[in-house]
Parts: sequence; C-alpha cells; structure tokens
Amino acid sequence: MTYRRLDIPLPSPAPGVSLNLLAHQFGNRTNGRSAYLHAGLHADEHPGLLVLQNLLDKLQKLDAAGAISGLVTVVPYANPIGMSQRLFGPIAGRFDFENGENFNRNFPLLNDHVDAHIAKARGRTITRDEWRTTFAQTLAGLPATSPTQTMKLELAKLSVQHDIVLDLHCDTDCIAHIYASELQLDRATALARTMAAPVVLIEPRDAGGGAFDQVHSSAWGTVQAAGLLSQAESGFSASIELRGQADVNDELAESDSTNLLRFLASENLLTLETPPANDADALPVAVFPLEGASHVQCPCAGIIVYRKAPGDRVRVGEVVAEIVRLDGSGFNERVPVLSTVDGQMIVRQLQKLVRPGQRAALLAGERPVRGMDKGSLLLDF
Ligand SMILES: [Zn+2]
Repeated sequence: MTYRRLDIPLPSPAPGVSLNLLAHQFGNRTNGRSAYLHAGLHADEHPGLLVLQNLLDKLQKLDAAGAISGLVTVVPYANPIGMSQRLFGPIAGRFDFENGENFNRNFPLLNDHVDAHIAKARGRTITRDEWRTTFAQTLAGLPATSPTQTMKLELAKLSVQHDIVLDLHCDTDCIAHIYASELQLDRATALARTMAAPVVLIEPRDAGGGAFDQVHSSAWGTVQAAGLLSQAESGFSASIELRGQADVNDELAESDSTNLLRFLASENLLTLETPPANDADALPVAVFPLEGASHVQCPCAGIIVYRKAPGDRVRVGEVVAEIVRLDGSGFNERVPVLSTVDGQMIVRQLQKLVRPGQRAALLAGERPVRGMDKGSLLLDF
C-alpha cells in the first residue's frame, strides 16, 4: 500500500472557523508519470464530487493490488470556501462572496517565467523534474494573504508538479464536454472519447482568464511551444464538464470514474485488469474552436422554453428557444431566441425564469465568431 493523506491548512476566515484542503495520494513517481484530479472548484457543481469518491474507492483497491505504477493525487473538494457560501438556503459557490471574483479565474500564469528560464539555460537541456521544481518554486514565491488567494495558490502549486491535471466541473444543463489547449489536441480528443464526451472546445494559448487548468497549460505549454518537449512528453491539463448540475447519481459516477481510470491507464499511471478498450471506432468527437463559442443572450424577461436540446445541431437563424413573456399584451406571447452560429448546442439553462442579457445557451460554432476578444474568451458567468 502506498496511500498517504495530505492536509493543507488555509488561513482561518473568522475566529473559531478552520479551513483546509485535503489530498489523497496513491503510488509514487518512480515511473515518471503523475496525475492530479480535483472537483468542485465551482462549489455549486457537484457531479465531480461524487465521481471522485467513487474513483478513490477504486484507487484504493488498485493500490492494494499493486496496480498503480505512477503517482495519482486526488483533491476531493477544491473549494471549501465556496462550499460554505449559502444565501438563504442554496449554495452560491461560483463567485467569491469576498469580492465577486469567479473562483476559476485569475490563477497565476507562468508563460513569462518559463520564457525567462529557457533564456537563462542558454541551450542546456532542462529535465522534466527540473521543470516541475521550477514551476512549484515560482508559485511558492508568489504572495497570498486571504483564504481564497491561499487556496488557489495551494491548488496551483500541488497540481502543476503533475504531468496530467484534470479539473472536474459541470454546467447548468448540458452534454459532457472538455476544454483543453490547442497544443494538446490529440490527448484532449482521446480523453473525450474515453469519457464519452462528444465535444471538445479547443483554447488558443492566449485565451486569457487565468482558469485553473491554464496554470498548468501556461507552464508546460510554453516549454512545448518552445520545441523543448513533444506533445506526448509535455504536460496535459483539461477541464471536464460532467454534464449538468442535476446530473449527480451513482450510475454516472460509476461510469465516469471507470472512464477516468481507463484514461489514467492509457497514460501508463496504472494497470487495469480489463485493459482500456480500443476507442478508435467509439463515439465520434466534434472539435470546436473556443473562438467559435457563442453565448446567446435572452432578449427579454420571461419563461424560456427550449426548441433545441444539448447535443442538437443548430444553424444560423434557427430558433433554439422561445421566451414566453408574462407581461405582454397577448397571452402565451413568445419571443424567439435565434442561433448565431452553425454548430451544436452545448449548454442551456436549468432554471427557466430568465432576464434580458442572461445566457440562453452556449452554442459551439464551427468558425470563430467575429469580434471575440482573444484575451477574454472565457465567460465569467
Ligand atoms: Zn465550473
């Protein structure tokens, strides 16, 4: 058995209140492979929390059987601060009550640091272990005072030292999909097939936003972009959207955790009794550019009724939903919501009472949407 537990204390937010992060580790780095997984960074997204409990159970059995050959780190809840934020009952775990910041934004990016390190090396070969150490040391030198800043920095420091980082999220009501860097298209597509996620949204290197998975992709991706590591040798990070907020049950957790293990096995971190299936002919995966993502807005207030479901194809001008005005001159009066792209519906609202300007749907377009600012491709809401 190789299991060990890490307790990472965070600053107390108030007298008498303590906060901590927890990490479970299995295996070791002897074969040079490592993976990190966490869930619930948006603390109102709960499918991943159950998936990781299921995964931990499976990892414990694999560990007992001596089947884990790399290092696997699992943080079962990434945001205890957000999990404790309730407003008159419901959890409000996407934005920090302290300052309104999205919990999955403004993580530190390491592009400039890596560029400087490459210049300083003057052509000397830098090993992967050296890269891991320098990433962690750079992050350790950054200031963090508040509980949230400290929590984000601790997550960044722990995760960036792993080859593979998987950040489990969900959206309101949606099909499973994956966000990953354009530098890791092959692994992102392989992960999507393994997870039975039919869509990948590919981020350009300058997507902006400072999402958690960009700590890792900014670090390893800059090394890869400089030609010092191949796609397969470099680190891989991705955000996995595990369907919608209501999709929390044992059946999905069982299949999702099994599929995560299959992906880790395909990356030589562990051995499964039943080897990973050959996915070449499995579910087709559609790849869309993040610059083509269209967040279609509601034109007015009312009850939204969808004409399209997540996964459906859409064409420009097609009606994806109607908003039933409750205060118009007629009864059951409807205002259409039109698709702005040719592509696929990915996300729609779970709660149906909407206001003007609210996102009605996320549509993945086949082509970049004109006017998308390259540095701010991630929507905060
Ligand atoms: Zn999220």
